[in-house]
Amino acid sequence: MSDPLNSGDDAAPGTPGTGENVCPRCRGTGRLDDADCPECGGTGKVVEGIGGA
Ligand SMILES: [Zn+2]
Repeated sequence: MSDPLNSGDDAAPGTPGTGENVCPRCRGTGRLDDADCPECGGTGKVVEGIGGA
């Protein structure tokens, strides 16, 4: 695994029981104060667990 997790990620992409969600911090823009959103690393998406998995 070469990509470090972003701080907003609960798990690595593709982990069973998780899914991508729009980043709540930047609302999917990937930008915050003219810089990359630290929560999603500028992707605008975070990986979160689904259904309490
Ligand atoms: Zn974000």
